[in-house]
Amino acid sequence: MTTPAGSADTNLPQTGPSAYDDRRPPERELLDDCVHCGFCLPTCPTYQLWGEEMDSPRGRIYLMDLAQKGEIGLEGPFTEHIDQCLGCMACVTACPSGVQYDRLLESVRPQIERNVERTPSDRLFRNAIFALFPYKRRLRAAALPGAFYQRLRRVPAVAKLAEKLPGRLAAMESLLPPVSVREAFARLPTYTPAVGERRARVALLSGCVQDVFFHRVNEATVRVLAAEGCDVLVPAEQQCCGALELHSGREESALVRARREIAVFEKLDVDHVVTNVAGCGSSMKEYGHLLSDDPEWAERAAAFSARVRDVHEVLADLGPRAPRHPFRGRVAYHDACHLGHAQKVRAQPRAVLRSIPDLQLVDLPEAELCCGSAGIYNMVMPDAAAELGARKAANVRSVAPDVIVTANPGCLLQIGKHLGTTDGAADGGPIPLLHPMQLLDASIRGVPVPRS
Ligand code: SF4
Ligand code: SF4
Repeated sequence: MTTPAGSADTNLPQTGPSAYDDRRPPERELLDDCVHCGFCLPTCPTYQLWGEEMDSPRGRIYLMDLAQKGEIGLEGPFTEHIDQCLGCMACVTACPSGVQYDRLLESVRPQIERNVERTPSDRLFRNAIFALFPYKRRLRAAALPGAFYQRLRRVPAVAKLAEKLPGRLAAMESLLPPVSVREAFARLPTYTPAVGERRARVALLSGCVQDVFFHRVNEATVRVLAAEGCDVLVPAEQQCCGALELHSGREESALVRARREIAVFEKLDVDHVVTNVAGCGSSMKEYGHLLSDDPEWAERAAAFSARVRDVHEVLADLGPRAPRHPFRGRVAYHDACHLGHAQKVRAQPRAVLRSIPDLQLVDLPEAELCCGSAGIYNMVMPDAAAELGARKAANVRSVAPDVIVTANPGCLLQIGKHLGTTDGAADGGPIPLLHPMQLLDASIRGVPVPRS
């Protein structure tokens, strides 16, 4: 593969039929926005890892351009380099020319899923992931054997066997969150009234993985919103928002889920649809764009997306009202890529955390660099994800925090895995990894900060 930077190759004429099908191919104007300056390269995690042009944003845009001009097909290097992209959108933040790499990636990933035949083992592995994660009931059913397995894994012989699992299965196994059966089967109240005078009425997306494995985060979020003067509705019929599928190019099934969620939430008389998961928020804010060519849904999707807010946006807009108890400690905030880069929500979580008296907020070095979680990336690309996870863990250690907070379950699992149990907080034990809502909830209630 030749290097695109500044070469005449970037102005190739159309030499054959486009490799893309007619369903939303990448737009020519968006491809042409890239002036090949390379400012995005230092912030791209895969370019950082391998120093390979085709694993940089600029190189990937070049590949998209070649495929559009009929120079290359979608199979082979095209799929390989697009698959290796984390979809972290650090390049969107870095690009001075406003290149919409997010839109480009959103167009080409479904093209790959529709038109490229994956190897049987790759297909099987991906299908297994998508047959489980977007389904709350299946996740709950998996929680029982999961909890049993985690007990069994404490037996040295079983732990030894687990270490021998092949790459992707080993990655999946090591990312299994501590399973609490009680938590997995718990349900949020469908209505929680505001404490004191009502300031807003919101509906919460409870999520799939979030609700089953991080139910405590949802409980904390409902308590915080109510304490800050919000009536909180949690519609029982909601399901997965489709974010995992959308970010992996499984557009058709993601849009089926999007339409279903819109139909559930649009009936509610609320000011905002609130999410506490970075990946879910970024995809729900995109529904309007994704369904813009669907005559039945375009308007409804745009109206829905306009109401979606990350929980930190809502709290920062309202301003703190509930009294807080102090937290004396160093708190490292990790920007989840789908919150910081994709939604540009960076100031609000920090403002919310700073509302806790005595809390010392510390930023991480290389904060813009993805931790390697990236949806299903750490399962399908375990080696690259492990390198990025180890790098993030080293950056976390360098600021010696008492608590780490981040607003995405994938990041919590990935950073926790790479910090391991050897990194201790000042008061002993592993450093607590929490969602900011858990910390704020503990501060408002005046209870000890949870360990997880
Ligand atoms: S994506 Fe933006 S920063 Fe990167 S090479 Fe193109 S124009 Fe430059
Ligand atoms: S989304 Fe992330 S990994 Fe992909 S090209 Fe952009 S910076 Fe690199």
